[in-house]
Amino acid sequence: MNLPKLAIAALGGTVSMQARHAGEGVIPTVNGETLLASVPELKELARVTVETLGLFPSASLDFELLLSVLSWARYQVEQGAIGVVITQGTDTLEETATFFDYLWDHDEPLVLTGAMRSAAQAGADGPANLLDACRVALAENSRQRGVLVVMNGQIHQASVVRKTDSLALQAFSSPVAGPTGMLLEGTVRYLRQSSHRKLLPLPQQTTQTIAMLEASLSADTLMLENILELGYDGLVIAGFGAGHVSERWADAVEAIAKEIPVIIATRTGSGPTAQSSYGFIGSEMDLIRKGAAMAGFLCPRKARILLWLLVGCQRLDELTRYLNDDIRFQN
Ligand code: ASP
Repeated sequence: MNLPKLAIAALGGTVSMQARHAGEGVIPTVNGETLLASVPELKELARVTVETLGLFPSASLDFELLLSVLSWARYQVEQGAIGVVITQGTDTLEETATFFDYLWDHDEPLVLTGAMRSAAQAGADGPANLLDACRVALAENSRQRGVLVVMNGQIHQASVVRKTDSLALQAFSSPVAGPTGMLLEGTVRYLRQSSHRKLLPLPQQTTQTIAMLEASLSADTLMLENILELGYDGLVIAGFGAGHVSERWADAVEAIAKEIPVIIATRTGSGPTAQSSYGFIGSEMDLIRKGAAMAGFLCPRKARILLWLLVGCQRLDELTRYLNDDIRFQN
């Protein structure tokens, strides 16, 4: 039988974790081959190539490594893979998915998955998630949807998905948008048409640094006041509510925004920043006047990825266009 080609890469995370000795904490040790062996059904669906590109807790992944994973994934597609699956830790999955989504210029799906329960734990979800991710990567209706995250039977779009629970099996959600699809009795079903994505070229520069700070009640301005001196190339603030900061922070933002790009997102976890509702000092209208850009629906972490990429490919002049064009709205 002429089965389609599928490429899988393992990067580590809980899906690859087990304890070396009883009573010790789990660490990433399970390689791609062993993960593949946990889903024997896959043999009937595809000719699979699997590689272990790393065994990291996902907190220790970095942009440079992601760029090399991306070039591996592109190569797999050029070699005939009709889809690519990457397994990794769930802690930073929403960020890696966003990173890849801005850069993935193939019609073939790039699907990320992981697990909330480690490999040897009772009821481990890794094998089911991996099998689901492979089904999504192989499905014809997944084409031209960019990067997808498959967890717990749901399919999420990279641009909106977030880890919203620290330990629960149902750890991922897409606030406001909802999942874009699901797996039903082994079939891949989408709830919406694929939406248009805004791609970026590969960054020519990778040394840029983007700071991220969260606004909090009665916060001092020490770190803010040192952002420029520390040499950051951009700043993202997880602001209060609809994208607000205190008066003291607003003053600091004004000075910083004269030198480097500043994006104000919301720390709430759901919903967009405002544009034209509030006028007090530190409000969105005030911060826009002071030179900051509002993140819209992009959460602080995704806004930071966008800013890092825009600086890296020298497209900062398009920042507001990228922030305002949100996939949640089709027109
Ligand atoms: N708890 C994490 C996970 O789900 C650990 C990590 O992100 O590597 O994989």
